[in-house]
Amino acid sequence: MGTALITGASRGIGRELALRLAEEGYDIVVNYLFEEEDYAGTVAEIEKKGVKAVAIKADVSKFSEVEAMMKETVATFGTIDVLVNNAGITRDGLLARMKEEDFDAVINVNLKSVFNCCRHAVPYMMKQKHGRIISMASVVGLSGQGGQTNYSASKAGIIGFTKSLAKEIGSRNITVNAVAPGFVETPMTDAMPEKARAEVLGSIPLRRGGTVKDIADAVAFLASDQASYITGHVLSVNGGMYM
Ligand code: NAP
Repeated sequence: MGTALITGASRGIGRELALRLAEEGYDIVVNYLFEEEDYAGTVAEIEKKGVKAVAIKADVSKFSEVEAMMKETVATFGTIDVLVNNAGITRDGLLARMKEEDFDAVINVNLKSVFNCCRHAVPYMMKQKHGRIISMASVVGLSGQGGQTNYSASKAGIIGFTKSLAKEIGSRNITVNAVAPGFVETPMTDAMPEKARAEVLGSIPLRRGGTVKDIADAVAFLASDQASYITGHVLSVNGGMYM
């Protein structure tokens, strides 16, 4: 089937994406940065599905660390067929009080990482004449969100990046798409104040938060043969929260 590399796959949405793509038959590279215990659990779960898995520690905001990760991936498995740019952070706050380092951290981890990973994976995909790139945007990259100028800008940036790269490398049989989740219950959203969570959930037409499975289904579809004629698309998976 090939190899799928998922950034930020030690927990949350990324972990579910790794397990789902393993079920589809891909060998998996689990990228992580901090959570050593979590990644070990993720790798063991993936191997139970009968495919190979390795974990590679790399800070996706660092160009040279990503270059080394892609080289190690190809040295281990021979190809990079699916790249899922999932790693992301929040550093929420109103603009009037936002620290420069909180803006820079979010842009570097969420957006520059997508450049870093694509820059180092695409040459291999071009040689293979095949590839799937799927990046995790967000509903707030489309709608905007007070208190998240940094995060929304990073996610809107991913959308522009996705469409531009789709135009550049479509002729090489590489599709480039984004998934824009709404509110998904993960360690990231566990950090939200209870009042804000209740407000968000009340605004969703389907009257529930998204699950990691909802997001994994969308990513598995975009990675599949059924999606081979879809590129430059932003697939909203948000229960109707933003249309
Ligand atoms: P999460 O539970 O906080 O997990 C984030 C993952 O990113 C972790 O595996 C973490 O690795 C990794 N990571 C953070 N900084 C990294 C870095 N510099 N280098 C490599 N890995 C790094 O987040 P999540 O909720 O699953 O979100 C996953 C993606 O979906 C993010 O891009 C997020 O913006 C997006 N999203 C989430 C929601 C939501 O409601 N949850 C909604 C829309 C979009 P460690 O374990 O090593 O820390």
